[in-house]
Amino acid sequence: MIDFTATRALFHIPKGVIYLDGNSLGPLPKAAEARIAKTVRDEWGQMLIGGWNDASWMAQPARLGNRLGCLIGAEPGCVTVGDTLSLKVYQALAAALEMRPDRRVILSDTGNFPTDLYMAEGLIDTLGRGHQLVTAPPEEVETHLGPDVAVLMLTEVDYRTGRRHDMARLTRAAHEAGALTLWDLAHSAGALPVDLAGAGADFAAGCTYKYLNAGPGAPAFLYVAPRHAATARPALSGWLGHAAPFAFEQSYRPGEGIARMRVGTPPVLQMAALEAALDIWEGVDMAALRARSVALSERFIAEVEARCPDLNLVSPRAPSLRGSQVSFRFAEGYAAMQALIARGVIGDFRAPDIMRFGIAPLYIGEAEIVRAAEILGEVMENRLWDAPAYRVRAAVT
Ligand SMILES: *Cc1c(COP(=O)(O)O)cnc(C)c1O
Repeated sequence: MIDFTATRALFHIPKGVIYLDGNSLGPLPKAAEARIAKTVRDEWGQMLIGGWNDASWMAQPARLGNRLGCLIGAEPGCVTVGDTLSLKVYQALAAALEMRPDRRVILSDTGNFPTDLYMAEGLIDTLGRGHQLVTAPPEEVETHLGPDVAVLMLTEVDYRTGRRHDMARLTRAAHEAGALTLWDLAHSAGALPVDLAGAGADFAAGCTYKYLNAGPGAPAFLYVAPRHAATARPALSGWLGHAAPFAFEQSYRPGEGIARMRVGTPPVLQMAALEAALDIWEGVDMAALRARSVALSERFIAEVEARCPDLNLVSPRAPSLRGSQVSFRFAEGYAAMQALIARGVIGDFRAPDIMRFGIAPLYIGEAEIVRAAEILGEVMENRLWDAPAYRVRAAVT
């Protein structure tokens, strides 16, 4: 059981706002404010350079990695925190390709988040060894596994539709085909139970600013399975991944295990926010969270469909095939979302026509779900979206 009234009280949600965009940027944990202030004042301010030792800044990536690892079914000592998700995808992919030197294909799906695909393209160009990025529709990706596939690189939960891959089954299929797996958990970590060890995943990466609520610019995480820890070579061989960073040797020697996947100086202030965010996750039973997420999502779908005949559900109807978001298609979706935001219901829009709603039970309850659907119903029924101001596209949608 989770006391959702209690967890909700741990977040700062502005008055009058129903926040359904935690899949893009989680809200501020109230404790993060004080935690960041304390780090600034007592650590940076007072300890100066001494903070690296005396406040254990240098140990943050491993320590927070372990805490985060508990939420994604990782073995101890297999997760590090730092950099951005794009970079962590690059590192994992580079390491995986090197472990399958005779194979040339990176297999992904057409719904994958562009940065994952872009990073793969960039890596392929840099390697210059004739690798190829192949994307298949999500439902068909398994049929493309073959003797040329080096890595199956998938985002478990599709950022647009919320469609969820079966991580355990696909990992097994990839291994049977001789390929390695790289799972992007951007929309999984903190959204649903993840069992990396149980699934036998090889590599996984994700961000902490979405469902984990660690704030804008919060560091990413990277998981390397224990069986690969000593062989995976970090393509980004930065000094903090070196076996002895403060020996200042001329040549790179990879550190022990996951520590080698560190690159440069960790973002200490963001780590403080992450620490506060992870405190909230202590004791959250992911199965109970999932049950609540499914119940709220089902309710939202039913309420919206009853009121908005012009919106088409693009998320899978079966809860087991969804992550923790619900998406609808509407040709004027951008304007409709702006009209909704103007009325205090914050979701977001993904081109070309998808209205996205993140369902995060730690701070969203049933009454808000119903109220959000009512307001959306009013926007749709009265064409409140049909105003020039709502069609002006901002840089971030
Ligand atoms: C949000 C998201 C990213 C973002 O990558 P950053 O480097 O943190 O900007 C990458 N991949 C997926 C699947 C995402 O959903």
